[in-house]
Amino acid sequence: MTDAPAIRHGGCLCGAVRYEADWPPEALVLCHCTHCQKQAGSALSVVAALRRDALRIHGTLKTYEDRGTSGQPVWRKFCPECGSPVVTDTPAVEAQGMIFLKAGTLDETADLAPTLHYWTQSAQGWFPFDGQIACQKTQ
Ligand SMILES: [Zn+2]
Ligand SMILES: [Zn+2]
Repeated sequence: MTDAPAIRHGGCLCGAVRYEADWPPEALVLCHCTHCQKQAGSALSVVAALRRDALRIHGTLKTYEDRGTSGQPVWRKFCPECGSPVVTDTPAVEAQGMIFLKAGTLDETADLAPTLHYWTQSAQGWFPFDGQIACQKTQ
């Protein structure tokens, strides 16, 4: 027996894009940056950092080239049919052999256990921080 990772499945709202991800990820964080809020239409993004070979995508994502605070490109990839954001990538993340999955698109999310809040300086005021998860004002 090998201790192969569990595989999680997920996809966009309409199902045109599906993926498998080896689980658990290297990290699972919550991003309250204004760009994640805009793209998700929500308070935050749930972001899983995965090794690139741990994420296998079926279907075609469209890329919106955003800019991070560092001025570097941020490739926000989404389903062109239904608009669900699925992947975020940057040159630095790519160089590390990693990729960011929008973990809110997993089929099963009930047991997700994020360990860090990023960009809490732009968090929506109503968000009920519980003090249990570490916070960083920026990234
Ligand atoms: Zn879709
Ligand atoms: Zn963000």
